[in-house]
Amino acid sequence: MDTYDVLVIGGGPAGYVAAIRAAQLGLKTACVDAFERNGKASLGGTCLNVGCIPSKAMLDSSERFEMVQHELSDHGIDVAGATLNLARMLARKDAVVDKMSGGVSFLFKKNKVTSLHGLGRLVRQDQGGWVVAVGGTEVAAKHVIIATGSNPRELPIAPFGGNVLDNAGALALTEVPARLGVIGAGVIGVELGSVWRRLGAQVTVLEALPGFLSAADPAVAREALKQLQKQGLDFHFSVRIETVEDTGAGVRVVYTEKDQQVTVEFDKLIVAIGRVPNTRGLGAEDVGLELDERGFVRTDAHYRTNLPNVYAVGDVIGGAMLAHKAEEEGVAVVELIAGQAGHVNYDVVPWVIYTSPEIAWAGMTEAQAKERGHDVKVGQFPFSANGRAAGHNDTRGFVKVVADAASDRILGVHMVGPNVSELIGEAVAVMEFAGSSEDLARIVHAHPTLSEVVKEAALGVEKRTIHA
Ligand code: NAD
Repeated sequence: MDTYDVLVIGGGPAGYVAAIRAAQLGLKTACVDAFERNGKASLGGTCLNVGCIPSKAMLDSSERFEMVQHELSDHGIDVAGATLNLARMLARKDAVVDKMSGGVSFLFKKNKVTSLHGLGRLVRQDQGGWVVAVGGTEVAAKHVIIATGSNPRELPIAPFGGNVLDNAGALALTEVPARLGVIGAGVIGVELGSVWRRLGAQVTVLEALPGFLSAADPAVAREALKQLQKQGLDFHFSVRIETVEDTGAGVRVVYTEKDQQVTVEFDKLIVAIGRVPNTRGLGAEDVGLELDERGFVRTDAHYRTNLPNVYAVGDVIGGAMLAHKAEEEGVAVVELIAGQAGHVNYDVVPWVIYTSPEIAWAGMTEAQAKERGHDVKVGQFPFSANGRAAGHNDTRGFVKVVADAASDRILGVHMVGPNVSELIGEAVAVMEFAGSSEDLARIVHAHPTLSEVVKEAALGVEKRTIHA
């Protein structure tokens, strides 16, 4: 039986990063992953195969299509007869996924991580370590890291299949649906809703909660919603889904909104109502691996499960279901196994939503800061007062900095606007070093750049913005 120091179960952002870090630290490492694309093993998990990477590829392509049709004329460029070749757009997306997934295989080879294909199942303890079944064989490992990720949550009255799509199905439609329904105005709902709206679908989003993006700063959420509605996304809040019927030709949804029952027909329906932990095939019950009441693997602060030498990281342990949170946990758990001081700062995990305009934040909202007993000062600055944004012809949105009134330490930064997925990095860095709004305001920012909006928002904390 092959024996490893570390066996990682799951080859997504948590698992593959853990495996590479383990190998870097001199541990003999294998990673077992079951994901298949087009009948072939494909490393990278949900993020790389059917999540972050393909959705961003489609967001990028569809944004270019939108730009050619509606925005280039403002720049004095007239383009006649732009047409969509969806098959080529999907092929490009698939090529991006192939390249990135191949990149993980390359990194495994480079770092001498053994890649095993199949479901990994904990079988029994053996000499302080574990025997894990992979397909028809067994391997032994001193430490096992569970990084099996999550699956889309199904609506019991609308199981996935046919015209009812999960994230993977929504990224592989071979025709633009004339009428697309989306259940859930969360991250996937607005990102994939945006993609298909830009490509020509009439998109209706049905959300159970009364408000939009409740985790975001309310002013950011308001501005984002306004812009998405302006683009034609039709949002309905406080909706209760009553029935969903796949008629073969489409999907009939009956929902209640403000005590009114509404029946609507869609060609396709995306259900994006969150994700559930994936422990399928892991043998959790057989070996007594403790799960919490929602099915997440229960861990302590050092990612230890209730079983000796079995750890868990990423979506399967709960918390923010974000690839970068999972990656950091992957690094931290391995460093802890190796006797180092692995650690993740959950207070400063950036969130990014890749709509147009983009939405990004890190740290506390103003309301959260107040709830936690902080007196706060707030600075805000609009992209409309920024020269680079004007040059781009995209001046939507703003940056907001929330600082502690007494210490000036930055507690949160909230953004909606062009390229804020990249701008949030600076805010994260300053917050990670416990920086103040004055620190951020005194940093020299290149001119003309969008990043000047971040500096001006920081200046705004002391009411001394220069350009507004
Ligand atoms: P989500 O939690 O972001 O949003 C789900 C939405 O569905 C919520 O607004 C919820 O109120 C609503 N909802 C739940 N049940 C409903 C019902 N019965 N009827 C109507 N609405 C209902 O989940 P998601 O969009 O499915 O995304 C899943 C996970 O993937 C999230 O945790 C997200 O963070 C992650 N993700 C992240 C990114 C990114 O970082 N850019 C992109 C995609 C997905």
